[in-house]
Amino acid sequence: MKIAIIGTGYVGLVTGVCLADLGNSVVCYDIDKEKIKRLQVGKIPIYEPGLKKLLESLDSSKQKKGRIKPGKIIFTDDPKTAIEKSKLIFIAVGTPQKRNGEVDLSFAKSAAQTIGKFLNNYAVVVNKSTVPVGTGKLVKKIISKKYHGDFDIVSNPEFLKEGSAIEDFANPERIIIGAESQKARKIINRLYQSFNCPILNTSLETAEMIKYASNAFLATKISFINEIANVCERVDADVKEVATGMGLDSRIGKSFLEAGLGYGGSCFPKDIKALHNIALSNNYRFKLLKSVIQVNNDQRKLLVEKTKRILKNLNDKKICLWGLAFKPDTDDFRESAAIDLIRLFQKENARINAYDPQINYEEFVNRNNFKNKINFYSDKYTALKNCDALVITTEWNEFKKADLKKVKKILKKPVVVDGRNIYNLEKVKKLGFKYLNIGR
Ligand code: NAD
Repeated sequence: MKIAIIGTGYVGLVTGVCLADLGNSVVCYDIDKEKIKRLQVGKIPIYEPGLKKLLESLDSSKQKKGRIKPGKIIFTDDPKTAIEKSKLIFIAVGTPQKRNGEVDLSFAKSAAQTIGKFLNNYAVVVNKSTVPVGTGKLVKKIISKKYHGDFDIVSNPEFLKEGSAIEDFANPERIIIGAESQKARKIINRLYQSFNCPILNTSLETAEMIKYASNAFLATKISFINEIANVCERVDADVKEVATGMGLDSRIGKSFLEAGLGYGGSCFPKDIKALHNIALSNNYRFKLLKSVIQVNNDQRKLLVEKTKRILKNLNDKKICLWGLAFKPDTDDFRESAAIDLIRLFQKENARINAYDPQINYEEFVNRNNFKNKINFYSDKYTALKNCDALVITTEWNEFKKADLKKVKKILKKPVVVDGRNIYNLEKVKKLGFKYLNIGR
């Protein structure tokens, strides 16, 4: 099938590459011309394990614009090339949050307008972006204003995780297809026929809701275990062991039970607030979600308080942050815990050194309005020089494997504040660190 992808970000690019790998002819379109230029010469704008290799195997550079062979992918800033003659058109544009908590649908609406303008045959428009219930119908209305022929809308929410996106695409736990027409259902079911997982066919609205409900539930698990951690600290229990004990119960499951600095990233924070807002605008107060958000915000504040307590005060203290990405194996720092921590530490007049193996430091500073300068390093040990404390913000593997004896030697004071519980309690204490963690 010829497939168009509208929006070549994390989701769009991974989806496009993986669908081409399955033997489809894929055209990825984006309004960001710079991004497209880089992709056309094989440069990937994001860090995602396995993606570069997979794209190289598709050898897209040898493709001529507009003449796309099965199993190949091309990148274009020309919407006509992408949309014309495509059987499936995936919308994978961003759906960020507005200041008032509502979902900003401007990208989705403009994508719909573009589709309406260039559609010239029957196609199924598949929405992969996370959107409020009712957006599928809205997209349909916008397209119909410009294109008067036959087309269908499908909601096919995305569940891939940054850092394991290729693996998640290849081995999904479920595929959700929300559709109004049998014809569209048949086409999209055919696309996914080789996948060995349950395919749940629902209405458009139910599919849209499944995505929000899933993210909200996972975020609730994270806030729940963080609350348990805070109680554990007061009663001398170990939250890691508590989580293991809970997770062995198959009704609970072991994932998303890691106490720490809470959730971040481009999805959870905005999706949880969006669902809370969707409920409110439909006259329902989602009380539980309000607490989930509050607990998440408080986890960051608690860590800064702990650091302050152990260093007496934070004024002019030098803090080294290991990790700026919102989780390991990604270069995505949107809504990361590190951003909140830097703001909170700077408010207390602390100075910040920082290291992350994948983050583009310039972009990190440009996208966030920090009060004071941050010193960035290309080596995690050098970043520790003259620091009063090391704070672990992202659980990268290289931090788990760090030479703690060396860490102790370089730090001004042997203080480790572990926001991700990555170190063994006995081991760090034996080495002579003052070791603060979450719930142990
Ligand atoms: P992103 O910001 O990385 O990418 C969005 C892309 O869309 C950008 O390249 C942007 O230039 C492009 N774009 C915006 N308007 C456009 C238009 N009118 N036409 C063409 N291109 C346009 O976003 P993302 O992280 O890929 O997320 C996309 C959607 O998928 C969001 O709704 C998100 O909530 C959802 N989602 C994301 C993830 C994830 O892990 N990132 C997982 C599941 C679902």
